[in-house]
Amino acid sequence: MSDWGKLIPKPKSAFLNVKCPDCGNEQILFSHATTVVRCSVCGAVLAEPSGGKAEIKGEVVEVFE
Ligand SMILES: [Zn+2]
Repeated sequence: MSDWGKLIPKPKSAFLNVKCPDCGNEQILFSHATTVVRCSVCGAVLAEPSGGKAEIKGEVVEVFE
């Protein structure tokens, strides 16, 4: 029964403090964002949804779990 947990690891969700590669603005976003997350300052894409876990485009400065 518990073997399922080992075969298919459940990705842990977290909040990430991501630095915008374009303007350096730091922004909190969800690691499993289901929509495109844009920088609130310059509008650059910071995260794109990719089958569950979001693909982070900027630099992850800090992780809040
Ligand atoms: Zn920006």
